[in-house]
Amino acid sequence: MQVLLVEDDALLGEGIVCALKQAGFTVNWIDTGRYALSSIKAEPPDIVLLDLGLPDMDGLSVLKAIKALALPIQILILTARDGIEYKVAGLDGGADDYLTKPFAREELLARLRVLERRLTDASTAEISIGDVCLYTDKHRATLAGNELSLSRREYMLLKALMESAGIIQTKERLESQLYSWGEQIASNAIEVHIHNLRKKLSGSFIKTVRGVGYQVDKP
Ligand code: CA
Repeated sequence: MQVLLVEDDALLGEGIVCALKQAGFTVNWIDTGRYALSSIKAEPPDIVLLDLGLPDMDGLSVLKAIKALALPIQILILTARDGIEYKVAGLDGGADDYLTKPFAREELLARLRVLERRLTDASTAEISIGDVCLYTDKHRATLAGNELSLSRREYMLLKALMESAGIIQTKERLESQLYSWGEQIASNAIEVHIHNLRKKLSGSFIKTVRGVGYQVDKP
């Protein structure tokens, strides 16, 4: 799950990023509304955590602009404004949930899990190509009916390739789906994960498109 955190409070932002990473989310963090919108357009995340009190734009305007993109993104608003009118305006504006600051990390994670469930229920929970079957709601995969033992990144990589079957995925695109910004990535990280995945799958399942990237053929 790709989460975009839009929050200008440095201390809170650091705390949230840390908690989310520990819980297995891929998280990117932006501190202005304008930058958040351009990032969402360029690379839509699954979930946006949106602070309503941003330095450059009103959070509700950011929310409106995100909704106007009509992307399958779940939005959780974070607000220090405890006035009921902001929550109502946020929910009326299309936010999926809200949290009032200060909040407990456990509550944030629990609400994220709900949004995550909604997303996986809404998208195909099962992707089947050849002998390989991916169960996205359970984060597991099978090969000819046998459970595959995959690391978290191997699973994410396989999912990224299978969801976009028939389309070449560049190394950069795959890196952005597997790693958060600023995370240390070895230059051959994707190659290593592909190599390990191939050992677990049948040899020709993931194709190398020389000089471009990788691809799984359409079923
Ligand atoms: Ca703020």
